This record gives sequence, structure tokens and C-alpha cells, in this order.
Amino acid sequence: MKSYDIVIIGAGIVGLSIAYELRLRNQKLRIAVVEKGTPGKEASWASVGMLEPQLIITQDFLKEENSIQRLFLNLCIESQFIFEEYIRRIEWVSKVNCEYRKEGILKLIPPDETADEKIAWLARIGIRGHYWSPEETEEREPALAEGYSAIHLPGNHQVENRKLVKALTYACKQTQVEILENCAITDFKVVNDAVADVSGPTETFSAAHYVLTAGAWTSQFPGLHGIIPDIRPMRGQIFSMQMPHERFVRHAGSLDDFYYVPRNDGRILIGSTVEDAGFNKSVSNDVTDGFLKKLETIFPNSVYFKAIESWAGLRPVSEDRFPVLGETALGNLYVASGHFRNGILLMPITARLMADMILDQKVSPLIRPFSTARFFRD
Ligand SMILES: Cc1cc2nc3c(=O)[nH]c(=O)nc-3n(C[C@H](O)[C@H](O)[C@H](O)COP(=O)(O)OP(=O)(O)OC[C@H]3O[C@@H](n4cnc5c(N)ncnc54)[C@H](O)[C@@H]3O)c2cc1C
Repeated sequence: MKSYDIVIIGAGIVGLSIAYELRLRNQKLRIAVVEKGTPGKEASWASVGMLEPQLIITQDFLKEENSIQRLFLNLCIESQFIFEEYIRRIEWVSKVNCEYRKEGILKLIPPDETADEKIAWLARIGIRGHYWSPEETEEREPALAEGYSAIHLPGNHQVENRKLVKALTYACKQTQVEILENCAITDFKVVNDAVADVSGPTETFSAAHYVLTAGAWTSQFPGLHGIIPDIRPMRGQIFSMQMPHERFVRHAGSLDDFYYVPRNDGRILIGSTVEDAGFNKSVSNDVTDGFLKKLETIFPNSVYFKAIESWAGLRPVSEDRFPVLGETALGNLYVASGHFRNGILLMPITARLMADMILDQKVSPLIRPFSTARFFRD
């Protein structure tokens, strides 16, 4: 049996960032991240890396002063606020450029629509947005179809999530966080309301604290039934294409539920779906065709883009769609999962607040509403 101070189960962006934050706080801790496959190759790899706090906020937001939506938006905005500083530190240690882009994200307004309602909504929830007239939009995003205007969200940035998980993996390895690949945890041994050890087919690990960060698989451990709330996979499909040059489309943007994200290497990612399809990661040609038609309406010259590849990833989602963060009924088991469509954005705040909790027993008011307790009140 291998022994550590802290064992983290799942090496996605959430598990890796918590491991690295714990390491920064204490150089002496023996930390292991145990991963069933390759680090960062599930949802965190499939993602597109837009940092958009308002993404899953709905009209219910206005109903209750203290609704979980409001608290969730606070958490996202706080994370957005510390994101750049956090990522610069990881880039410095890992020497990986994570392509953090700050030109802002556009909400497109088709020629026959006005922006008034959308701007009012953003203002009401506290997201800064500036209206660009069709002339301004054409000047700043010249490849767009004629007549589009836009709301420019200057505070919403983007990051190359695959490079970010690579950077985090390097940063962990360089600071002696052990990352154990191809090692699926299947059993949690519970003794006296605490985890005694965790094991897979060939190895057993014991630790003072355990952190469960297994993304869409977080509630797949039979021994933790009634301890970990239900978290299920929500498939998202993405298609990527090569543009003639990297500034052909200059900003990431969206129109209703369709979005596009240009990358520094000249690729453009388009998507996405939100599908309750179990653990099935297949992609469908019909979905891709739908994306291509939408892209062509917005950027007519995209018909000349070269197709590259399509993929799908499984976003972890809880029953109320908000993350599950914090302590569990087992004294030494913590969980950080269910980040759904905002896991990349929420990386720094999750890492910081989870480390506060695990090392200093500090439970920030920012994280408290997201505890497992909300699912087990009875
Ligand atoms: C198409 C798509 C687009 C997205 N776009 C955005 C976006 O623009 N912005 C944003 O903020 N978020 C976005 N997201 C959401 C974001 O990617 C996720 O919320 C985030 O990656 C979740 O991270 P995670 O570490 O919890 O999960 P994962 O990255 O899935 O990591 C979980 C890890 O746990 C491992 N694991 C599972 N079971 C076990 C086990 N038994 N033993 C050991 N290891 C195990 C898995 O192999 C995996 O590596 C998007 C997601 C998708 C799919």
C-alpha cells in the first residue's frame, strides 16, 4: 500500500489545480493524483476554454435575492477576477504558453434584431457589455456577414484549455506532486465514518485526506452512495476547422446556443451540444452539418475553411446544475465536481477555496452554498 498526506482521484483541470495549489501552500505534503487514463484528456481537453460567468444564468436569477444562481455568478466572477494572475504563475513554472486571450467575447445580434433586451439583461446581472453598431462590428470583425451588430464583453476572456492542463501537469510534476496514470480507483474502504483507503485493480492508496475530482464519473463509486450526490455526464460535441490565417476571425463569439472560438494557430472551434447521452462520446455528422450551416450564415467565407476534426466530451453536471464543492459526511473525504459548463473558468477559485478547506479548515462563504449538504437535507 502507498501512503500519502493527500490523494486526489481524477486528473482533470479540477484535480490537477487543487493538487498544485496544495503544493504551493505546503512544500512538504506528499500529494498523489490518481488518474484512470491520461491526465487532462476528458472534459478538460474537450472544452473550448471560454471564460463566461453568465453562461448558465437564467431568468430565475431575478426571482430570489439569494438564489443559488446569484451565489454561483459571484463564484464565477471571483474566479474570472483572479484567472489571469493564476494562469501567469502556472505558465511561469511550466514554461507553457496557455494562450490567454483578452480581446473579449462577442454576443452577435442578427441584422433584423435589436440588442436592447440583451444589454439590459447583462446589465441586470452585472456583466459589462458594450454595444457595437453594424459599422463598428464590421470594422472590428471584418469577416462577419453584413448587417450584424454585437455586444462586446470585454471582461470575458479565453484560454487554450489543452495547453492549460498540460501546463498544470508539468507544474505538478516539477513540484513533486505524483501523478499516477492508467490507474482507475474502483473501491473506497470506509471505516468509522472516514475513508481508510482507496484502491484499484492493482494498487491501494492510503492518505489523511482524499479529494474526489472524477468529473462526470464522480458518483460512479457504489461505496459512496448517499455520500456523493448524483453527478451525470452531459455530452458536448465540437468541430474544428482551419482558417486561412489566425486573424481571419478575431474574437470568440456566440449567437444563441451556437459559439465559435478562434485559436492562435489559425483553427476555429465550433459547437456545441448539451446532450444527456450517458457516457457515450460519439459525434454525429448531422450535428456537425448543423454547426457548419450556422457558421456559414455568420461568416460566409467559412465555406473555404478546411475541416480538421470533431470530438465530444462529458461535462459533469449535478441535479441543480451547480458545482458540488467541499466536505462530505465522511470526515476526510472532500469532493470538487459538477462544474458543468464552467469548469475551466472556475479552476482558480475552486483550487484556492478547496485548499483553504483541506489545509486550514476555512470554509469561505463563497463556497459554502455549493456543499453536498444541499442534496441530503432529509
Ligand atoms: C464541449 C465542451 C465545451 C466546454 N466549454 C467550456 C468553456 O468554454 N468554458 C468552461 O469554463 N468550461 C467548459 N466546459 C466544461 C469544462 O470542460 C468542465 O467543467 C471541466 O473540464 C470539468 O473538469 P473536471 O476536472 O471536473 O473533469 P474531467 O476533465 O473530466 O476530469 C475528470 C478526470 O477524472 C478521471 N477519473 C474518472 N473516474 C476515475 C477513477 N475511477 N479513477 C481515477 N480517475 C478517474 C477521468 O479520467 C478524468 O481525467 C466544456 C466542456 C465540454 C465537454
